Formats: sequence, structure tokens, C-alpha cells
Amino acid sequence: DRRAGFGPNIFVESQWHPFKDAIDSHITKQWHAMPIINGNSLDKTANAALEDHPVHAPWDHAVQAGTVTYANADVAKQAVQAAIDGQAEWQAFPAAKRADILRKIADLIEDHYAEFMALCHVEAGKTTQDSIDEVREAVDFCRFYANEAERLDEKSYSFTDLDGNEMHQVYRARGTFVCISPWNFPLAIYTGQIVAALAAGNTVVAKPAEQTSLIAHFAAQLMYQAGVPAGALQFITGAGEVGAALTTADNLAGVIFTGSTQTAQRINQSLNSKDYAGRELPILIAETGGQNAMIADSTALPEQVVRDAVMSAFGSAGQRCSACRILCVQEEVADEMIELLKGHMSELIVGNPLEISTDVGPVIDADAKHGLDAHIERMRDESTTSIISQTPVNNSSAVGTEHTFVLPTAIEVQNIDVIGGEHFGPILHVLRYQARDLDLLIDSINATGFGLTLGIHSRIEHLAERIESRVRVGNTYVNRNQIGAIVNVQPFGGCGLSGTGPKAGGPHYLARLMTLTNESRDT
Ligand code: GLU
Repeated sequence: DRRAGFGPNIFVESQWHPFKDAIDSHITKQWHAMPIINGNSLDKTANAALEDHPVHAPWDHAVQAGTVTYANADVAKQAVQAAIDGQAEWQAFPAAKRADILRKIADLIEDHYAEFMALCHVEAGKTTQDSIDEVREAVDFCRFYANEAERLDEKSYSFTDLDGNEMHQVYRARGTFVCISPWNFPLAIYTGQIVAALAAGNTVVAKPAEQTSLIAHFAAQLMYQAGVPAGALQFITGAGEVGAALTTADNLAGVIFTGSTQTAQRINQSLNSKDYAGRELPILIAETGGQNAMIADSTALPEQVVRDAVMSAFGSAGQRCSACRILCVQEEVADEMIELLKGHMSELIVGNPLEISTDVGPVIDADAKHGLDAHIERMRDESTTSIISQTPVNNSSAVGTEHTFVLPTAIEVQNIDVIGGEHFGPILHVLRYQARDLDLLIDSINATGFGLTLGIHSRIEHLAERIESRVRVGNTYVNRNQIGAIVNVQPFGGCGLSGTGPKAGGPHYLARLMTLTNESRDT
């Protein structure tokens, strides 16, 4: 019983295999993604100026999954205009009808579990468990925001003055949103952004990260199939310059963005620089990075701390903005915890994500790998830091000669500053602290400016509460791992450099995408 890893816990081999055949058949096929404007697919035959880009599996670049036709700035502008033109039609759909369409999207995504899992593997390098979770979360977002659309539709406020005159307040759509989603949750966050905006009666121009266009394109097709009108959703492929063309367009109601803090700041500046005479100011909803700590004191259960830290740091190859980047351990128990950490890391299975037993797959692409490897080498050269443990690729079946694996690595550091920002991959920093310096530790965590997740392991309730009340973060997790927020259970989102809120998958998200309008009537 290999309990140290965090591989699949849902399927046993015998139940799994019939489904695996379906996944395999989708992995071997060639996928193609391209922009879709007003229902028309723009490949190179439709627009010779567009360029095709191949997609390679991250564990073996010899495996090609398909090609993506990138949009350009002209196509991006057309998409925004098409969505603005589509606003009146979509906004006129009653909330219940929009909700039904969202529920139909959820059903269709579930019907195509095997395709989505194949695409999660081959395009994003996700493991089996992560792929299952990815599809599940996308479906949850659809059903949750469908319910929310109906809830807010019913929730009109009524007021009466002393003469009996009435005023009603109702939620209304804002307009066209640009949704820019990340490669680390290529289906879940992508779908969550789109369906939230649609549920609120807004039209959408969606641009997924260029690394994961195939999965996004497939999902967009299902959205149209479910009944989203061609004017309500425009689908755009491409990299940063296409995103910039979208977010600097005129007459947007807002941008929903998940990605780096720097890009969010640029989008914010551009939205603020527009002349919006006669219109509401456009809004930005941003979910950005984190420099997330887990604090474990001497009363914590060491085995549990290590299990939760390993899962939080190395699950999804560390490519979650919620991931634990710094494990802060009280000095008295640090040696013991580090020994346990080494043992646990040596049990991780690192390799091809198609293998059901794999815990840690590759990172997304060569740029990401180079940056992460460079950080590990820099830490190796620093006199104040030391590599505690590194797990090799230990299941090399079907791993190609060219790939993007980064070895899960734990590094002991003497302070947080030396880490130098967020490193988005399977790297865990370990920091010892003295109990008397707990307040200084809290200050140094806050000083990073980020505020996404925090893990606390302690059996002293009031100490955990004190830490929780002083560290400024969006999501705190006590005596458990700190990743994998569940829709409508742990609404997710940070503060400070980590994002604007409102929390995705929570009761305030949809209201932010709408405006409240008053109607007063004299009797
Ligand atoms: N919601 C995810 C989690 O709780 C993280 C989202 C992200 O990485 O952007 O782990």
C-alpha cells in the first residue's frame, strides 16, 4: 500500500481500464484549435495572415497533440466588436434560460470526460487525479453559477416610503467581458470565468493561455452546442500581444484575468486610462500569484504536516497559485520534520502523467522549466541555503528525450527574502523559526505583499487563531493541505498582490459582474 504519494484515490486499476482506452484514443488523435467569431471558425483558409503553432506533449516533445491557429490583433478587435454587438440578444435571455444553458454545458462536459482528460494530459501534462479534478471543478462552476444566476434574479430589493411609493432594485448585466485564463487550470478556471460572466447576462471574449488552446477550443464548441448564442461568446487564441489587443479595446465592461500580478497591473492601467464618458468604469477581477507559507509549530502532528506540505508543494507539479512555497517549522521539531520530508519525497513517483500511479508530472513548457531549474541552481550556489532533497524522474516509461520535468526539490533557507518572489513549480522552501520570533515570521510573510493561501498546523487553538488573524491572506487552511479549493465550499481568491476578489465559486462573485438598478414608482 503506497500511501506516501498522492496519486489517484478514486479508481482502482480494474475499474479504470475501460475508461483509459477511451482516453488513449483521444491522445493519439490530432486536435486543432482556432479563433471562433460569430460562430465562424477562422483557420488559415479563412485568413491567410494567421499562423499555426504545434502543440507538443510536455513529457515527450516527439508526441504532437495538434496545432493551434493563433489570432492576431485585428481578429481580436473583431471579436470584441462581435461580443458588444451580441450583448442585447444575450441580455434579453431570462436568467432561468441562461441557467439552463449553463447546466447543459455541465452535462456536455461530463459526457466528454475522456476527451477532456486526454487533453489535460497531453496539452497540460496533468496527472490522472489532477485531470479528474479539473473536469469536476469546471462542471461545478457551471452548476454553481447557474444557481447563482437564478438566486440573484429573484433577489430584488423593494423599499417603500411613508406615502406608500415603491422602489425596486434589480441586478442587471454590465456588458462585454474579456476573460483571460491560465494554462494551469485550462478547463476549470477557463470555464469558470466564462460561465460566470454569461450567467450574469454579459457577453464574453475568451482568450485562454496559448499553451492550452486545444482544451479551451473543445470546451467552447460544447458551450455553443449547449445553446450559447454565437454573439454571446467569442473565442480567441494566441499569446500576450493578442491578450493586450483585447484588454486595451474600447467599450469593455471589464476583464476577468488569472495570471501574473504584473500583467494584472498592466490591464488595470489600460482600463483606467480609457475615456468612458457616459458609461460605467470598466472593472478588473484578477486572481494572481502567491508566496504561500505553511506554519507548523511544535505541537503539530509531524506525519500530517509533512503529508500536507508535500501535497501542497508538489501536487500539480507545484503549478497552482495556492501551492505551499515555504514550510515554516518551529526549531524544536525541524530536524524530525526534515527527515520525514526527505522520506516522503523519496516515495513520490515522478514521470509520465499517463501512468495512473504518477504523482508529479512535467511542468508546462521549456520556459517554465528553465526558470525553475535556474532558481534551484541559484539556491545551490547561495551560501545560506542548502538542498535538502530532490526526487529524480523515477518512472521513465514513455518519457521522451526532450521533455519539461523539473525535479521536486526541497531547499532549506534562512529567510524569505532570499527566495526572491514566486517560483511556479515543484520547489518547496523550508524555514526554521524560533517560537519567540513567531511575530517576526508573520511580519515577513506579510512583507512579501502576496496574500493568497496560508497553512497552519498546530494543536493549540488560540495560537492558530492568532496566526490566522495576523497573516493577511484570502484562504487559510488549518491542519490540512492548502490546495484544491472546492466550488461553493472554499470560495477562492486572495488579497494584496494576489488578487482583487471577489472569490471564485462563492456567493459574491456573480454580483460583481452585474450592476444594481433602481426603479422608483409613485402610487
Ligand atoms: N483554486 C486552486 C486551488 O485552490 C488554485 C487556482 C490557481 O492556481 O490559479 O488550488
